[in-house]
Amino acid sequence: MEVLEKLKARVYRFGSESADGNRTMKNLLGGKGANLAEMSSIGIPVPPGFTITTEVCTEYNVLGEQAVLDMIKEEVESSISNIETIMGTTFGDEANPLLISVRSGARVSMPGMMDTVLNIGMNDEVVLGLAMKTKNEQFAWDSYRRFIQMYGGVVLGMKPASKEDIDPFEEIMEHLKEKRGIQLDTEFTIQDLKDLVYDFKEAIKKRTGHDFPSNPWDQLWGAIIAVFNSWNGERAVYYRNMHGYPADWGTAVNVQAMVYGNMGNNSGTGVCFTRDAGTGENVFNGEYLINAQGEDVVAGVRTPQQITKLGSLRWAELAKIDEEDRVENYPSLEELMPSIFEELNTYQDILEKHYRDMQDMEFTIQDGKLWILQTRNGKRTGAAMVKIAMDLLKEGMIDEKEVLLLIEANKLDELLHPIFDPDALKRAHVIAQGLPASPGAATGKIVFFADEAKKYKNSILVRIETSPEDLEGMNIAKGILTARGGMTSHAAVVARGMGKCCISGAGALKINYKTRTLTVGKHEYHEGDWISLNGSTGNIIEGKVDTIEPELSGEFAEVMALADKYAVMQVRTNADSPKDAKIARSFGAKGIGLTRTEHMFFEVDRIKVMREMILADTLKGRKQALEELLPMQRADFEGIFEAMAGLPVTIRLLDPPLHEFVPHQLETQRSLAEDLHISLEAVKIKVAELEEFNPMLGHRGCRLGNTYPEITEMQTRAIIEAALKLKERGIPCNPEIMVPLVGTVKEFELQEEIIRTTANSIFEERQDTVEYLVGTMIEIPRAAIMADLIAEKADFFSFGTNDLTQMTFGYSRDDAGKFLPVYLEKGILKADPFEVLDQAGVGQIVKMGTERGRRVKPNLKVGICGEHGGEPSSVEFCYNVGMNYVSCSPYRIPIARLVSAQAAIKATV
Ligand code: PEP
Ligand code: MG
Repeated sequence: MEVLEKLKARVYRFGSESADGNRTMKNLLGGKGANLAEMSSIGIPVPPGFTITTEVCTEYNVLGEQAVLDMIKEEVESSISNIETIMGTTFGDEANPLLISVRSGARVSMPGMMDTVLNIGMNDEVVLGLAMKTKNEQFAWDSYRRFIQMYGGVVLGMKPASKEDIDPFEEIMEHLKEKRGIQLDTEFTIQDLKDLVYDFKEAIKKRTGHDFPSNPWDQLWGAIIAVFNSWNGERAVYYRNMHGYPADWGTAVNVQAMVYGNMGNNSGTGVCFTRDAGTGENVFNGEYLINAQGEDVVAGVRTPQQITKLGSLRWAELAKIDEEDRVENYPSLEELMPSIFEELNTYQDILEKHYRDMQDMEFTIQDGKLWILQTRNGKRTGAAMVKIAMDLLKEGMIDEKEVLLLIEANKLDELLHPIFDPDALKRAHVIAQGLPASPGAATGKIVFFADEAKKYKNSILVRIETSPEDLEGMNIAKGILTARGGMTSHAAVVARGMGKCCISGAGALKINYKTRTLTVGKHEYHEGDWISLNGSTGNIIEGKVDTIEPELSGEFAEVMALADKYAVMQVRTNADSPKDAKIARSFGAKGIGLTRTEHMFFEVDRIKVMREMILADTLKGRKQALEELLPMQRADFEGIFEAMAGLPVTIRLLDPPLHEFVPHQLETQRSLAEDLHISLEAVKIKVAELEEFNPMLGHRGCRLGNTYPEITEMQTRAIIEAALKLKERGIPCNPEIMVPLVGTVKEFELQEEIIRTTANSIFEERQDTVEYLVGTMIEIPRAAIMADLIAEKADFFSFGTNDLTQMTFGYSRDDAGKFLPVYLEKGILKADPFEVLDQAGVGQIVKMGTERGRRVKPNLKVGICGEHGGEPSSVEFCYNVGMNYVSCSPYRIPIARLVSAQAAIKATV
């Protein structure tokens, strides 16, 4: 074991058209590391380097700093010397120095969530050597200044003291700029940069009590450890939790030779996408800056220029920049450096074809030579995801199954959100325009700080620019608006990843954090004022704009049609009204898996009759009230059957504890007493009688139907009569009556008997019949255990995984909110089991119940109607268990349809 541990490679090299790793090794090398290795081996010019594996991060978390440094020391040292050989430079050498970068890289991209340190290897001597070697003193001192700033922030913890404060290094720079009467970083003289280096180091010493480390190796080890630490940093943890990425994945560390985009006007740096990440349009696009380092493009401090001429023209139009100004001050890379552009264009084409997906690349031009720093499958909006997948199919790059596998199910959610009502948009007052960084419609109240996003139900986060610290607030806000930054700024990239509407680079906005105001021309807006963002056009609109429901059309509909072609398991909906049933059908539901009849009783005119029924002391009294409810229920069912036009409709008999229907407030109790001509006291006594210690485990489900059979009778009558009525009208209908909360066979048998007897007597009365099924929910663990006996009687099973989860874990659905957050935080549970089906526990009960049921009835129809029916991993599980259908809320249907297809495809490969 000891020997094996030592032999295990912890460091993988790449560069000079070869590599130890490849793209399939994402789990070990992280996405970035695996792709750097892959690019290197297919001949793309990447700066040489190496990747320390994600396993080392996990080892670090267990064993600590010293043990891990001991383990990787030799490999890292020899890999640095490999870089030295390729680059012809030496780490720490004063005359001919090698400088390196240290970057994080988890198996999935987590943009900006972890740390990076550039220019490692720099100190008071090396800076002089670099200046001599490059004959560019300005560049050398600027790099040194940046290094101390970055290392200070990331490794030495030099962060702003409070949210209203700015970065301590930025503050020093601002002072100097003021003193010198200059505006831009590029206006600093060499002496200014030297002063900054001195002042930065002083500030660090003052705050940390230590000198800035001048030994390159100390710098390197410090940076590696800082990157490992950033895996457990606040931002990263939040992002991981948001996406459900486990803590034990860890991050890899990529160490690479530095190449410089800030060596003068023959250098530059940029970010580009092989297709449009916002819309999916097949156009190469991106942004760059001349004489800059990577973070300058993303930080949004300088306005980046477009890579292609087409992009530049489009951008200028939005930014209201005339052609002369554009050509003079913001030319595209295509115009400014045509041969570099051609080379980049070739690589983007090679990389997209190689990875067979849209790529997001970073590049640097160092003194006229192009280097590719990174490629990865680009983050994109839901709309772009769908369009790109269908385009790749039409271009013959991928096949139908690959299209379906390329679609991230949960991202479809974005396409199901409301959009601005076109009529309301016509009346909208546009106050300014920015870049359409991430499409969508957002309307909300202005907040200026990320940690205040939750102040309002709907908020729009308005910032000069965003940073990774703002992640949580960005997630909470309905939309994001920034005054600075381009299409690849932090705000834009993160918003697209979240599918959140974002407008960036709206230069006309003046934002004042201290006064919490947003000024556009003469108008001032305050925190709490409503604004609306159209992320597709970049329009910023005053006030609130109405929205309308989206449609399933275009490429989205094409993807759904493909899904249906490969799906085996069907998707139904949970719907309680004709309106929901219609929406569900428009999203492709193949039936209703659950109608909760109790929801119909909560409507104002019915709750009164329902209360009369509950409060009645005699059977006669109850029957009278039920008589009144019958026509209402019948009309409901008719509406639902009609909306579903012959598709199966599962109607569940009354389920909730009766006390939910009785009034608990004195005022309502009083008016009920008046209506019923009984005393207030009598009402109070009845309410108290119905009170239960544990209603979730109390008098509910089929226990109601078994204690008050007349309820089951009335509901059956309503269903059967509605079906007969539809038959009369020539509309097909397919009812399935479902008994809830069954735990013993007898409970089901007695209910079935009432249902069948009632139906038969109606058939007799009417001299007509309809087909119907009688099945049961399986939501009590005992029912799953007794499933073979129950299946002998029941026509179908529908797993109620909400109750099944409650009863398997013993977590009350009503009270779990008190401890689940802590359980998730402590890692006792990986996910909320009421949201994501617990496959290892509850799932096994589902599996057993299905198997036992089918043992006696091989064709038993089995479905699920708990909330898990629309959650991707749970839907896949249901397919693997062999269910006939899942049932979910209308807006989850496309997601469930896609996952159903994906599960079937995965099962065949
Ligand atoms: C269930 O328990 O999973 C279910 C669908 O029923 P309800 O949520 O109404 O209890
Ligand atoms: Mg239930």
